[in-house]
Amino acid sequence: MWQIKDPEVQPTILDFGSSGQGKHHGFQLVLDNTVLINAIELVDWDEEPTQFPICEACGYVHCKRGDWVSLRRAGPMILLLPTLEFVEGEGDDRMEYRPPEYIFKKGIPYLNLATYDSLRVSNTCFPSADSFRRMNMREAILTFQWDAPLQLFGRPPQPFAHRSECVIGSSIGDHTEYIGQLEEFARANGSCECEISLRQLNADEPAVSLYLDGPEFIEWKALTYDEGRLQLILDSKYVVLPDADAV
Ligand SMILES: [Zn+2]
Repeated sequence: MWQIKDPEVQPTILDFGSSGQGKHHGFQLVLDNTVLINAIELVDWDEEPTQFPICEACGYVHCKRGDWVSLRRAGPMILLLPTLEFVEGEGDDRMEYRPPEYIFKKGIPYLNLATYDSLRVSNTCFPSADSFRRMNMREAILTFQWDAPLQLFGRPPQPFAHRSECVIGSSIGDHTEYIGQLEEFARANGSCECEISLRQLNADEPAVSLYLDGPEFIEWKALTYDEGRLQLILDSKYVVLPDADAV
């Protein structure tokens, strides 16, 4: 995953001349030299999904294909997810609602509420975090799968199924057991629309790491248990809490 820590709101000029309009003076959101949003003031925040980099020739949402995200809130975090239309759609819908390239390259972007609120101070076009939909279990599993190291479980819309050759061990127990449990969890909850929350994993909390053999050795903190119930960990830092535990 890709944590948005020091995003910058920068002035920008877009040339809409080819569509018979003039120059547009606006603001873009930039992180690590990547433009996440090219015209903050032109985003249709009420739309689900939401197009972020919009057409650079006219500034209209939906003019071009691709660059759509689903904005979600989970506990103290806001996430930019690939859209349901991309993950579960067919043919043309999938291309139309493809996520921005940065989600493929850098992973699913997320930021905490404090960072988001600082953005709202610098640009009043950002809506209140309360206006975003709550993340559900299906989306949490999608996030877990999308950003698993080495695409261990495939990348949506591929089915959640592991590539056994990557995993060579685990911090405790038998790693093949955990892989089987994760696949079973994804099967059982993959269409669950129950809202979830996220909480930070404590440093001294027991969690299961999987050891992966790629171009370099990877220790991936992937799951933990609460009274015997499996809980996913996102970005090795945030535990996915089912609705009943939501805070
Ligand atoms: Zn256009």
